[in-house]
Amino acid sequence: MAKEKKLVEAITSMEEDFAQWYTDVVKKAELIEYSNVKGCMILRPNGYAIWENIQKELDRRFKETGVENVYMPLFIPESLLQREKDHVEGFAPEVAWVTHGGMEPLQERLCVRPTSETLFCDMYSNIIQSYRDLPKLYNQWCSVVRWEKTTRPFLRSMEFLWQEGHTAHATEEEAEERTIQMLNVYADFCEQILAIPMIKGKKTDKEKFAGAHSTYTIEALMHDGKALQSGTSHNFGDGFAHAFDIQYTDKDNKLQYVHQTSWGMSTRIIGAIIMVHGDDSGLVLPPRIAPVQVMIVPIAQHKEGVLNKAYELRDRLAKSFSVKVDDSDKSPGWKFSEQEMRGIPTRIEIGPKDLEANQAVIVRRDTREKIVVSLDEIETKLAQVQETMQQEMLERARAHRDAHTYQAANYEEFKELIANKPGFVKAMWCGDEACELKIKEETTATSRCMPFEQEHVADTCVCCGKPAKTMVYWGKAY
Ligand SMILES: [Zn+2]
Repeated sequence: MAKEKKLVEAITSMEEDFAQWYTDVVKKAELIEYSNVKGCMILRPNGYAIWENIQKELDRRFKETGVENVYMPLFIPESLLQREKDHVEGFAPEVAWVTHGGMEPLQERLCVRPTSETLFCDMYSNIIQSYRDLPKLYNQWCSVVRWEKTTRPFLRSMEFLWQEGHTAHATEEEAEERTIQMLNVYADFCEQILAIPMIKGKKTDKEKFAGAHSTYTIEALMHDGKALQSGTSHNFGDGFAHAFDIQYTDKDNKLQYVHQTSWGMSTRIIGAIIMVHGDDSGLVLPPRIAPVQVMIVPIAQHKEGVLNKAYELRDRLAKSFSVKVDDSDKSPGWKFSEQEMRGIPTRIEIGPKDLEANQAVIVRRDTREKIVVSLDEIETKLAQVQETMQQEMLERARAHRDAHTYQAANYEEFKELIANKPGFVKAMWCGDEACELKIKEETTATSRCMPFEQEHVADTCVCCGKPAKTMVYWGKAY
């Protein structure tokens, strides 16, 4: 028993120290390992498998909208990066440079891509000539490098995995439509597959992407009341097209600049899954994203017939679920703790008494509810349990977010809430960047987004008292 306690004791409780709890979970669930490269993490099989499932599901959704995958070089020549002024200024502080090839100094420095707008633009200027070449709907799955000073597993690391979509369109309307379409793809994916409800909205000018005309975002609320920007979609207008000379001849044989978008989601979203659904026993994965959905744990596996029945059950369930048997020589209690730590959504316990009664016990990871089912109908029952769990996880996350969303009519209320009530604060804003800066400086809260679903919380700006233009979600963020 002493050994069994160790695994559970090893995690700090969420209420005690949320940051430490998070670090404990990523380590103990074996999602990542720290590497010798400072600021870079190793994705272990349990972590990488989650990313593979995210990739599979997103990739399918992208392709349904006509997107094609490409692969671009890892390096960007300095001259190319500098073509668009805002873009280079935005990224310069966190760019890594290659200065030598072997022993030879390079004539022109190469940066390791922090994002690939410039490469896509350069390519588009070569391959787009006529209206017949449009639209171009490209995406790449890759890693990017940003020289971050402080890093945290999944949330911020020097190199991370992501996808970046880059599209070129004939008109402004088409580009805007695509920008919103991809934001909706992300939001639907997060709700339906990750069971994380999202606030959809537009970033303020201060928070928008370097070089973008407008940036849209999906924002989620973590268990500790902090916000996490979970995916972004940018409309570039024709800014990059002018900088990179991307023109096409329209149907009237006139030269026109294209309108572009880009959109991305990264391994950061795994941090959101952990921080929205996890508990004091570890990770809790929604069934639709879990690499292993069912762990069969044989009870008294040395008894005749138990292991064989467990394997038989695995082979049956494998037709519809991702399933494993833990047939190691650890005790059942130890196996339970491990399965819970890894967030495997359901466990099936089967022992000698169950064999006699032709039954098994399904245990839900989130509620620990035990459901005794006949082996004759276990496929159907298990599917129902997983479906219910998926829905209830989304509802719980939404209820948590709603219970931690406040509104402030004036600055006193605002400061009071930000200081004492972790969560989103809905408040009106005049549109002046000075107010945003003041709020950030005095409260550390930032504007998360101007939500599509606007509400009228007050008549005046929460900060300066001048007439308000829009409602903003504010909060402390990762
Ligand atoms: Zn103001």
